Amino acid sequence: MTNLNQFAAAKLQTLDARNLRRRLATTEILDERQATRDGRRLIVFCSNDYLNLSQNAQVKARAAVALEQFGVGSGASRLVTGNHPLFAALESRLAALKQTDDSVVFGSGYLANLGIVPTLVGSEDVVLADELSHACLLAGTKLSGATSHIFRHNDLAHIGELLTVNRNKHRHCLILTDGVFSMDGDLAPLADLSDLADAHAAWLMSDDAHGIGVMGAGRGSSFVGGAKANVPLQMGTLSKAIGSYGGYLCAAQPVIDLIKTRARTLIYSTGLPPASVAASLAALDVIEANPDLCAQPVRKAQQFTEQLGLPKAQSPIVPVIIGDAAKTLAASERLEQAGFLVTAIRPPTVPEGTARLRITFTAAHTDADIAGLADAVRSEIFAAA
Ligand SMILES: *Cc1c(COP(=O)(O)O)cnc(C)c1O
Repeated sequence: MTNLNQFAAAKLQTLDARNLRRRLATTEILDERQATRDGRRLIVFCSNDYLNLSQNAQVKARAAVALEQFGVGSGASRLVTGNHPLFAALESRLAALKQTDDSVVFGSGYLANLGIVPTLVGSEDVVLADELSHACLLAGTKLSGATSHIFRHNDLAHIGELLTVNRNKHRHCLILTDGVFSMDGDLAPLADLSDLADAHAAWLMSDDAHGIGVMGAGRGSSFVGGAKANVPLQMGTLSKAIGSYGGYLCAAQPVIDLIKTRARTLIYSTGLPPASVAASLAALDVIEANPDLCAQPVRKAQQFTEQLGLPKAQSPIVPVIIGDAAKTLAASERLEQAGFLVTAIRPPTVPEGTARLRITFTAAHTDADIAGLADAVRSEIFAAA
């Protein structure tokens, strides 16, 4: 019989051998653009703090006031005593931004998806999910006990086939997709998905973790191109462009009311600290007042893709696919030596054989930062070819 420590050591050895072991590297954020790691000062090109709001003076000041006023923690679940007054303010602001009746705020985006999906579907139902959907949408699906089918990435014909074959065998049908795909940076065809969902009496849910604040003048990927795509379940996170922490769902009143009474990750988990909620509120003020700031991360990403002759960036996320995990780690290492922090993304976060440099752009990157990175990445693309 293997003991626990032997089991863990053997697992680690297998991961090491395949270059798939992950390690936590201590990273100290210095300012909007830079961090130190292993004593080295680096320009960060892999943060999701797209608008640099985690470092924004106005946002920090509002968080500090809330911390003084309400304390460092919320003390209990929101259904007990954790529902401090800042929650209602944030929920109505999010609903207004997304043009829905109401919203509900969770402890994180991951917790939101683990709570939402099982509240809406169960064993009599079917879930269709994009193959590149975020891990927590798939985890929520598993937890729900619903039958699930994975459709090829952004493939409307494939979804149509799955709906035709499966929809009538089940009570309800939920279609899940990221709005902006987290590891590829491309967008879901939300308007077309919405038409398909309507035609088959299915419910459409988008995870807009990488859309809010940076797409559609800050409103998110349902608002790209001006018109609002009809997405009845708009989920997202407060931990990326909003710069703080937490997750949310924006939807119609009865849906939000149901989530508040049934989602287990809301009921059985402590409410967010007041300072985090205050920071999100202050961040929304900045976002609503500065549409030009919201457009910057995509603009910077496009500057980079243009310099490298890559397909035009659709979001602040640009993947440079190397393929092999070991080669990707080595490329990331060389970029670090050149002064750029770009994490290697490996399976199982991305499909086997598609290990990549996932490069993200923020409003604060300078032209010189981008040109410098483009030069360094050009040699990596050349080395990998
Ligand atoms: C980051 C992310 C989440 C999780 O959000 P957290 O607030 O970090 O837990 C969910 N979905 C997508 C697409 C993400 O990129």
